[in-house]
Amino acid sequence: KSETPKTKRILLKLSGEALMGDNAFGISRDTLKSIVGEIKEVVDLSVQLAIVVGGGNIFRGVALGSTGMDRATGDYMGMLATCMNAMALQDALRNAGVEARVQCALDIDQVAEPYIRGKALSHLKKGRVVIFAAGTGNPFFTTDTAAALRSAEIGADMVLKATQVDGVFTADPKKDPNAKMYKSLTFDEAIQKKLKILDATAFTLCRDQGMPIRVFNLHKPGALKRVVLGEDEGTLVHV
Ligand code: UDP
Repeated sequence: KSETPKTKRILLKLSGEALMGDNAFGISRDTLKSIVGEIKEVVDLSVQLAIVVGGGNIFRGVALGSTGMDRATGDYMGMLATCMNAMALQDALRNAGVEARVQCALDIDQVAEPYIRGKALSHLKKGRVVIFAAGTGNPFFTTDTAAALRSAEIGADMVLKATQVDGVFTADPKKDPNAKMYKSLTFDEAIQKKLKILDATAFTLCRDQGMPIRVFNLHKPGALKRVVLGEDEGTLVHV
């Protein structure tokens, strides 16, 4: 079987929850280790990989709305949460022998490089994984939007959205046993069917840029590699 990747440069969106494993909060070392194993397989195929990591396993800005906290303050806290995840991911990648750099959209120079597009591209060309932390750097946005934005900036072939299920379904597969998975659908079909793939801002940005999105299950062994090799895996959303 050919091991030639069908993509040269991809942007992987990892939610904070993906790092949580069976825990209710924070980062699971075991989960992190298995994710890193999946990532290493595609880096070994010389695919250039950038990652946008979320923060929902630690903190979400909207969560404090009910307590009266200012939304923007909550969102900055959420962005800091993504930085912690990015550092953990970088550390785990390095332990596995994968070179990685965190670039942060908020300035925390002692901890991570600032986001500089040209530098990110240079890291990617050298085969380093680039982890984008702190989302877009702006409150009222999400890391999904950061994924859409950075994917366009670095000229990625597609956005890979890692989820807890295998792809996009006709209904919630955890609740409806008759739910069917789509193999592919267009942006317009997704809107028409009111399917939630990325948040609305992120989804619109990808559609406007003609940036394909592949939704897949990162916890399924080998899935990321199969996506990269262009094999049938998850759901493809395209123009
Ligand atoms: N956030 C933000 N601006 C951004 C990205 C993230 O304000 O550009 C904040 C927001 O509060 C969000 C939190 O960071 O709730 C964590 O990000 P997200 O909810 O996207 O993480 P995920 O759901 O992917 O774990």
